[in-house]
Amino acid sequence: MPLPSQSNKIRSLPPYLFAELDRKRRAVIAKGADVISLGIGDPDLPTPAHIVSAMQQAVTNPAYHTYPSYNGSTEYRQAAAAFVKKRFGVELEPEREILGLIGSKEGLANLQFAWIDAGDIALVPEPGYTVYASSTRFAGGTAVEMPLVEQNRYLPDLEAIAPDIRQRAKLIYINYPNNPTATIAPRSFLEKVVAFAEAHSLLIVSDNAYSEIYYDDQQRPMSILQIPGAKARSIELHSLSKTYNMTGWRVAFAIGSAEAIGALGKIKTNWDSGIFGAIQSAAVTALTGPQDCVAQSRQIYRQRRDILVSALTRMGLSFTIPEAAFYVWVKVPGGQPSINFCTSVLEKAHVVITPGIGFGKSGEGYFRMTLTVNTERLKEACERIRGIL
Ligand code: PLP
Repeated sequence: MPLPSQSNKIRSLPPYLFAELDRKRRAVIAKGADVISLGIGDPDLPTPAHIVSAMQQAVTNPAYHTYPSYNGSTEYRQAAAAFVKKRFGVELEPEREILGLIGSKEGLANLQFAWIDAGDIALVPEPGYTVYASSTRFAGGTAVEMPLVEQNRYLPDLEAIAPDIRQRAKLIYINYPNNPTATIAPRSFLEKVVAFAEAHSLLIVSDNAYSEIYYDDQQRPMSILQIPGAKARSIELHSLSKTYNMTGWRVAFAIGSAEAIGALGKIKTNWDSGIFGAIQSAAVTALTGPQDCVAQSRQIYRQRRDILVSALTRMGLSFTIPEAAFYVWVKVPGGQPSINFCTSVLEKAHVVITPGIGFGKSGEGYFRMTLTVNTERLKEACERIRGIL
């Protein structure tokens, strides 16, 4: 007998656009080609040594071998509060306004279930991180896309959202520094989002996973909670993944409205567990210890960005200069579909880049490159691409 049919939720997911490209990538590697991947947003830099050694100590402590608290230890939440206070000047009550997460993806995926029922709407940026829309669908709701276009500096046009959609919407997602466009939102935009959310009774979900990866010290990304009145109707996700090169460790936290934090905590308590205690202990070291490791990562990405920006300019390609996050969002030359261009770059230049269409329909006509390889490989990748243009 066959297995039972899979859920409508699974079937509601859009086709995986990268699947074919991924198959081709594996085929090129199988032929022995030296493939350079500028595809995945995963730092190549190691976790700083003082955080690794805090983990080495912590892992031997039997107190951490039991089930961890669902919400995060008091020490971890206090460390997160201290980090947020120092970096953004925002005061938080660790017990009520902070929740530990097993990566911000976990928080983003789970929080829908606290607000979204069938027929409810979440407003999601497009192009964007696909989890916002897929988790909305899993929760039975509808993701209404807010296009991010170059003419509007990759900010959604809130005025363009139809009245009936505003009425049915419960959540509005924002993600600055933005993946995939690598832009920062100005304060004026964040103020508009707060006023819009207030007028339409929305919860703001701010994905701030890239807050510490920026290029200009005079233009540091903000937290939505810096806007007066925002805390009461926002939940913001922060992650140690990109800040401290800890993607594999799975550690993050949510901050914001005590009601929203409590609701997400309730979901987690019912079907999830907390972060491994030893990882929380190492995360305390990361958040409260010396931050020069983060400045060093920024310096490395800045150098790589400058190399890529000059190479793309020499190739005559058009792009927005990245302000933050480790991506570059580039226009596909010659008006061809992004998937065709990326396939040809893979097959002829053996470089993996990501077609913009994979992030949403407004991403068509663009491709994304990551800055997560060393300068030598980056230069080599650029040379190879230049060779086939
Ligand atoms: N948000 C954005 C915009 C991302 O690009 C990613 C990962 O690439 C995440 C969240 C998830 O990060 P993590 O779950 O590692 O905290």
